[in-house]
Amino acid sequence: MSLSERVSTLTPSSTLAITAKAKELKAQGFDVVGLGAGEPDFNTPEHIIEAAIKSMHEGQTKYTPAEGILPLREAICQKLLEDNQLKYTPKQIIVCSGAKHALYNIFQVIINPGDEVIIPTPYWVSYPEQVKLAGGHPVYVEGKEENGFKVTPEQIQQAVTSKTKAIIINSPSNPTGSIYDKAELEALAEVCLKNDLFILSDEIYEKLIYGDAEHVSIASLSSELYERTFVVNGMSKPYSMTGWRIGYAAGPEKYIRAMVDLSSHSTSNPTSIAQYGALAALVGTQEPLEMMKKEFAQRRDVTLALLNELPGVSCLEPKGAFYLFPNVSEAVKNSSYSTTDEWVAALLEEEKVALVPGSGFGAPDNIRISYATSLDVLKEGVKRIERFLKK
Ligand SMILES: *Cc1c(COP(=O)(O)O)cnc(C)c1O
Repeated sequence: MSLSERVSTLTPSSTLAITAKAKELKAQGFDVVGLGAGEPDFNTPEHIIEAAIKSMHEGQTKYTPAEGILPLREAICQKLLEDNQLKYTPKQIIVCSGAKHALYNIFQVIINPGDEVIIPTPYWVSYPEQVKLAGGHPVYVEGKEENGFKVTPEQIQQAVTSKTKAIIINSPSNPTGSIYDKAELEALAEVCLKNDLFILSDEIYEKLIYGDAEHVSIASLSSELYERTFVVNGMSKPYSMTGWRIGYAAGPEKYIRAMVDLSSHSTSNPTSIAQYGALAALVGTQEPLEMMKKEFAQRRDVTLALLNELPGVSCLEPKGAFYLFPNVSEAVKNSSYSTTDEWVAALLEEEKVALVPGSGFGAPDNIRISYATSLDVLKEGVKRIERFLKK
């Protein structure tokens, strides 16, 4: 007996692996500084929790349509119109068990064996695995650090072959926090149109943007782009609802309908009560989001300054999301470790600081530090990194 070929090359999520190791050390009684988290540290806002409880008392505890309840899809249409100038009907929306599941479903309905999907690096860890699970091949294009971790249209054009089916754009980015501005998106869009590519636009961090950066959805730039783009978004990051598992995709009806059919035979529907919570998140007060954002902005500024004082460490200013992605290649070179992975493992072992090595994101010179944790923890973390560097 053996595993299917489909799962034989699956690699476990590097972000979850580090979290598991840190938990293990904590359980052994060590004082671990956790900078690996990929989720906001705030609890879900109270009015969202209340809405979910109310829905349970009102009997909304049964199956829902596979694509999600109509009021939620209507609220999503309204959100996309107001925030992104995108006009969709509820038939073009599917609510999934997280944005991750929405992305998974998209790959399942557009990819044939051998199709290629362009993934700019550094990338979110699940993209390549999801492409492979659909029988496709990830093709990596390097978002160079000197270009703010962003790819250029020339690079994309060079990577295109007759098998290229789609490209992923994740702006603001996990892990780098970079944001493509309108002009950059227009230039990339030209290449996508010329080569007839689908665009998967993962916009889950759109609300977590600092300074004067702005979020633009590539789908809003023209009707030709609208017709080939899947806009993916969700509740996890803006509303601190990671455990609720609600995300969504908007796109051309034909493909969304196929995703609904796929869901109907796998997950049936996203959790009913979580959908009512998500509805309250979208239509209710946005004040908790603003508070969370303010807090993230302050943590980003303080930690960024501290990191850039460390010898052998340099960090670009992230414009969005809640991660810092410093380059530690000099620090690693000056240490007794030969790779960033080893350096990160030693940092956890010796100073009990848990963070994620960049290799899992396709950027082996960098590390990811999450600032979805308190300022005290962040300061303590940097202090320990400094001590580690001086050893
Ligand atoms: C967290 C995250 C997701 C998935 O979020 P869900 O919890 O599945 O909604 C998708 N893309 C990126 C870039 C993320 O960081």
